[in-house]
Amino acid sequence: MSNSNHFTYLVLGAGSGGIASARRAAKHLNARGKGDRIGVVEVTRTGGTCVNVGCVPKKVMWNTAFIKEMINASPSYGFKFGGEVKFEWPIIKKARDDYIKRLNGIYDNNLAKDGIVKLSGYGKFVGPKEIQVSGGEKYTADHILIATGGKPNVPDVPGKELGITSDGFFELEDLPKSTLVVGAGYIAVELAGVLHTLGSETTMAIRNEQFLRTFDDMLHHTLLTQMENDGVKFVKNSSIISLEKNADGKIVATTNNNVKLPPVECVIWAIGRDPNSLDIGLDKAGIQVDKNNFIKVDEFQNTTAPGVYAVGDVCGKLLLTPVAIAAGRRLSERLFNAKDGLKFEYENVATVIFSHPPIGTVGLTEKEAVEKYGKENIKCYNSTFVNMFYSVQSHKVKTSMKLVCQGENEKVVGIHIIGDSSDEIIQGFAVAVKMGATKSDLDNTCAIHPTAGEELVTMV
Ligand SMILES: Cc1cc2nc3c(=O)[nH]c(=O)nc-3n(C[C@H](O)[C@H](O)[C@H](O)COP(=O)(O)OP(=O)(O)OC[C@H]3O[C@@H](n4cnc5c(N)ncnc54)[C@H](O)[C@@H]3O)c2cc1C
Repeated sequence: MSNSNHFTYLVLGAGSGGIASARRAAKHLNARGKGDRIGVVEVTRTGGTCVNVGCVPKKVMWNTAFIKEMINASPSYGFKFGGEVKFEWPIIKKARDDYIKRLNGIYDNNLAKDGIVKLSGYGKFVGPKEIQVSGGEKYTADHILIATGGKPNVPDVPGKELGITSDGFFELEDLPKSTLVVGAGYIAVELAGVLHTLGSETTMAIRNEQFLRTFDDMLHHTLLTQMENDGVKFVKNSSIISLEKNADGKIVATTNNNVKLPPVECVIWAIGRDPNSLDIGLDKAGIQVDKNNFIKVDEFQNTTAPGVYAVGDVCGKLLLTPVAIAAGRRLSERLFNAKDGLKFEYENVATVIFSHPPIGTVGLTEKEAVEKYGKENIKCYNSTFVNMFYSVQSHKVKTSMKLVCQGENEKVVGIHIIGDSSDEIIQGFAVAVKMGATKSDLDNTCAIHPTAGEELVTMV
């Protein structure tokens, strides 16, 4: 093995966590001037799930649906268009794909600029701290990071191949006339929202009465009611046990409880994601996984093998891009910049669901807060109103907000909002929660009028 096959830091997976960690390592190792080598192994396009089949193309499609909502509202605001407004999916698909290609190029350039060696191919451990790429060259490293992310889960039912996943959604060449979205997580909700808003007759099949069940009750109740009012159909308390094609070429889904579902053009499986941990030779390196095959790590992202770390979706904790990035960067600060105690804090991570309307949330749900602190120590402030945007139109969308406060001084331990602009409002309020703000800190902040966000500092 030549010296060029040894790295100081070798990262498996050039997605959100892997790139962030490799680049932060480069910042410190390059400055050291001792010839340290950093490599990343990537089997597909640079950027990972977020850039190629996740956050980025999803947000472009959410923006597309948002424009449709504005077009729907525009006559109430006095706008008249010359004729029929036509939506052409292939135009936005091409623009979106081109944008992502540009991003792939930017990511590749950034790696090259930092002197990071990109090894294209599928990486697998063949020994402790030794990785083979696509069955060819073997590479060793002082430190190895596993940042291999995850992939959509497809249930093992007859006809499963007739359905697509979120990856397939981004390959659709046109808007399906009708869609069945199977699943109750945020990806299912977001894809169903985009498809319905753009004009696909959309049905969601969920296994329980509600979706988004790990979120605050107020959020999922409000969103489900809004989606039902807007015409999304729901098949509740049902699992799909098979798919088949009918004579018209449409897909017919059968449920475990014989609910009759309309034949559809497209079925999307959005029932969760599995970690990319099963076929990367973990056994050759003494790296353990949990019962769901997520890589076991401690609070510093150390795996069970010395000198091997893992960040991001493959660890199964808060499957979000900024979490993978922050954990990856902190790890490199700890390893290569002597920040010994540095680690990512997994509490009070704000997140957004790009539904219609969007959801913004941070901290504990009401249920979690009651469980943690006792009912007598929790006080919630609630508000529901119709955003002024809807004042001049008949289509009304409610905004609901909840503050979860704890103890005598009413420390704000959770903020949950659903309604227009929640996606942008929540980031600033997450800073307040992270800093330990109390209800009176919010009340002492002068409102901005007229906005939806002002409600959070004026609740009684
Ligand atoms: C539809 C969808 C929408 C989403 N929306 C959001 C959102 O709005 N906001 C948000 O924060 N998060 C969102 N996410 C989640 C986000 O994309 C992930 O949390 C994030 O990408 C995880 O980063 P990661 O580094 O762990 O893995 P990834 O970004 O998935 O990167 C893993 C990389 O490793 C590569 N790889 C895997 N195995 C190997 C191997 N053996 N050898 C070489 N390379 C390998 C993969 O090809 C991939 O490039 C969304 C996800 C999906 C699917």
